[in-house]
Amino acid sequence: MSLGLDLLGARICTFDCLYCEAGVTEALTTVRKPYVPARRILDELAAWKAAGHAMPDVVTLGGLGEPCLNTDLGDIIAGTKELFPDIPVAVLTNSSLTPDPDVRGALCAADLVLPSMDTLVASEYRRLNRPQAAIGLDAIRRGLLDFRAMYGGSIFLEVLLLAGLNDTAENLELLQGFCRELAPTRVDVVTMSRPGAYAGASAVSREVLDRFREVLGSADAATTVSGNAAGHGPTALIGRHSEELAARIAASVARRPQTEEGLAAGLDVPVTQVRQALAALLRTGSVRRQPGEDDFFYSG
Ligand code: SF4
Repeated sequence: MSLGLDLLGARICTFDCLYCEAGVTEALTTVRKPYVPARRILDELAAWKAAGHAMPDVVTLGGLGEPCLNTDLGDIIAGTKELFPDIPVAVLTNSSLTPDPDVRGALCAADLVLPSMDTLVASEYRRLNRPQAAIGLDAIRRGLLDFRAMYGGSIFLEVLLLAGLNDTAENLELLQGFCRELAPTRVDVVTMSRPGAYAGASAVSREVLDRFREVLGSADAATTVSGNAAGHGPTALIGRHSEELAARIAASVARRPQTEEGLAAGLDVPVTQVRQALAALLRTGSVRRQPGEDDFFYSG
């Protein structure tokens, strides 16, 4: 169950994708500003929490356009984590603003980032994503790699394919090389499942999806590939991803109480992933959390 936060409040984006399910982009821009201020979002979130709703598995920052356009992104992530310390925060992004160091820095606070990269062929990129003129494809490619180098959380790369547009052998070869460099936690190869913003955009066949999944899955032994028909589905992905880790943590804390940092060091995984798995274990009652002198301890 994902609680989605809209950081734009209107159809404001750096792209105007053919397949966009939110409709045609009304403001095609690279101008960053607090489109919906952090204070307003966090006040709403606090009111939602106080209303006693069932807790979500993940809080997902996205909305009607590109969430990284909001300059309050970092404050919104930090405030969300303060309100829901046991729930992972995910960010959906079209990757276009990753060349900006401020954006990369803000994204580092998230537990999970789901960037899109539909094509590395410049002509396909212009036809499919219809970007704001200043945003170059190579800068995005380099921005994502720079982000990878500084980020310790999970990256789920999404590739959305459209028939006759980016389902080419050239794109597949370029994406394969890119996945080798980026080494994302997983790759989701998807296609359209609902009507897009523009006529002429249509889904690829099952065979094409399978071909891309097979090739991109072999790009890196550590990368897993899946198809998530609806696209953008962090909740289910987190569940599958952390299942094995959660079992290891449960077995470990059954032996002795440990902190998040201690578990991360002991199991040799990023602390963000430990935190995600612990949140799931706490919800099912499989572990307990108790305050220690300087930190919280988890026990079986
Ligand atoms: S990047 Fe996302 S929100 Fe923006 S136009 Fe494309 S699909 Fe729509």
